[in-house]
Amino acid sequence: MSFFSKSSAPIYIAGPCSVESKEQLHQIARAFQSMPIQLLRAGVWKPRTRPGSFEGMGEQALVWLQEIKKEFNIPIAIEVAEPAHIELALRYQVDVLWLGARTVVNPFQVQRLADSLKGVQLPVMIKNPVTPDVDLWIGAIERMEKVGITDIAAIHRGFSTYAKSTTYRNEPNWIIPIELKRRRPELILINDPSHITGQSAQVAAMSQRAMDMGFDGLMIETHPQPNQALSDAAQQITPEALWQLIQGLKIRTPHLETSNQLAQLDFYRQLMDSVDDEIIALIARRMELSNQLGVLKKEMNLSAYQPERWREIIASKTHTAALKGLDPQLIKQVFEQIHDASINHQLGLFLDPTTSKK
Ligand code: PEP
Ligand code: MN
Repeated sequence: MSFFSKSSAPIYIAGPCSVESKEQLHQIARAFQSMPIQLLRAGVWKPRTRPGSFEGMGEQALVWLQEIKKEFNIPIAIEVAEPAHIELALRYQVDVLWLGARTVVNPFQVQRLADSLKGVQLPVMIKNPVTPDVDLWIGAIERMEKVGITDIAAIHRGFSTYAKSTTYRNEPNWIIPIELKRRRPELILINDPSHITGQSAQVAAMSQRAMDMGFDGLMIETHPQPNQALSDAAQQITPEALWQLIQGLKIRTPHLETSNQLAQLDFYRQLMDSVDDEIIALIARRMELSNQLGVLKKEMNLSAYQPERWREIIASKTHTAALKGLDPQLIKQVFEQIHDASINHQLGLFLDPTTSKK
């Protein structure tokens, strides 16, 4: 029997970002006993962006997880990033493995992990790679399938971007999981609202959005004392908040692929909303650059408005717009507004006696 199969009820996976103590796991597992949580997630080895942060409890965490699994009869999932992690996961009877976003980005490593799973029948969850590349994500899934793993779920946890938005820790880029769903409709697709939003206050809204878009389940970081967490403190929620979240979710049936035009309308609106958020983040980034440029112009005694530069912008942007089948007039108007705001900002800098290059 497969662990991951389609059902009308969502799959709920929850647990701390990292295992920190036996007591922490105990509190979580006890709270989950009265909730429909199918799988307890917990990080044992943590892939941290910078060295020096908490990197996980390692094998000690596996000892505790095995005890908790026996005591509470709940299946356990951990992240594996090395063949040695898989060996230990098997030794401590971990039920489900997942590949993290930083691992999935590297086909060599994914292949190494797939090779060490040959002949092992464990369910595997595959997070999206940090880069918004649907083929890389599908490629990792295929590498697992080729060694005989059949029980697979994909986890959408969002994508890294240079222009940091204030809304998300990792941009959802909905089009990527939707494309995965279009190409592999039978695959279980789970949303990870914790790593997408990065903020505990946003987790419930993101979870609802994922349900509205027809995802099959949620993976939510849950900690008994989120503000004391050793990793990802800002995004973890308490078991009580998780229970509220689950009870408040509106589950849409039928799911997106079979649904009516109304659901499709909603779906396109959601996609458009996320495109609009991206446009705003880009305009904000452009304004930051305009600010740097303004400081430099002030130092060089140049005027804020350079007509030559403005003519160039309009010519090149209307040309690009026409190539994309857009009305050049529309793009001209949009850029006039953006350019005006940028010049006004720079004029403000010129008048401000405190402005100088840092
Ligand atoms: C995690 O789930 O704690 C984690 C490290 O996730 P990701 O690989 O999505 O960053
Ligand atoms: Mn985490």
